[in-house]
Amino acid sequence: MQNSAWPQSWPDNLKIAAACPLCGNKFKRLEAKTVEEHGNSHLFFLHCQKCQHSLLNLIFSHPAGVGSMSLVTDLSFDDAVKFHGAQPLTIDDVLAAHLWLERVDLGALNGV
Ligand SMILES: [Zn+2]
Repeated sequence: MQNSAWPQSWPDNLKIAAACPLCGNKFKRLEAKTVEEHGNSHLFFLHCQKCQHSLLNLIFSHPAGVGSMSLVTDLSFDDAVKFHGAQPLTIDDVLAAHLWLERVDLGALNGV
């Protein structure tokens, strides 16, 4: 089944990657940095000079067309590269953090 809205909507989808979704500022070409390229998938880091927000933008192509997903992030470009290659958290990591939070005196950590 073919989506009749696709030919009209895909340029709008690409516009998302060309402008900041938070303030509408149009990105300049040099403001996009590549975090990773793998086959037909490209992960870019975009920083808006107007509102100072950053985005991770995944653009991928396949026989049916081009897709794009954006995520607002507080990561720097270097952090995005670092954490992109990091191992994902496991349930054991989450449990260890929970147990640590139960034991620690947060007031002592803040010098209160
Ligand atoms: Zn912006």
